Amino acid sequence: MNRWGIPDEIEKIVIKRDLRCVYCGISFRTKKSQQRGKSSPSWEHVINDIRVISLDNIVRCCISCNASKGKKNLLDWFSTPYCLKRKINKKTVARIVRIHIKRYCESG
Ligand SMILES: [Zn+2]
Repeated sequence: MNRWGIPDEIEKIVIKRDLRCVYCGISFRTKKSQQRGKSSPSWEHVINDIRVISLDNIVRCCISCNASKGKKNLLDWFSTPYCLKRKINKKTVARIVRIHIKRYCESG
């Protein structure tokens, strides 16, 4: 487990899967993102509950998105100026987040 309580197996899969910020799409493979700047990767629980340890709740997003989202509900966050300005919405986010929205936010 890493220090956020994420099991090694999940951590490895997510690092391979999320090569870009799942929200704004910024690449984690550029030199800039490796300099611990705002575009470097951080761990994110889509549902803001650290007990939900599953491959579709644990994603990587950039520090900017993580800081902006904070503890907001995903759909609420999409209507904030941060997302509007960057055109981040349920259609532009990574597939894993879209799956997540379908499963948890748009049930019924
Ligand atoms: Zn981002």
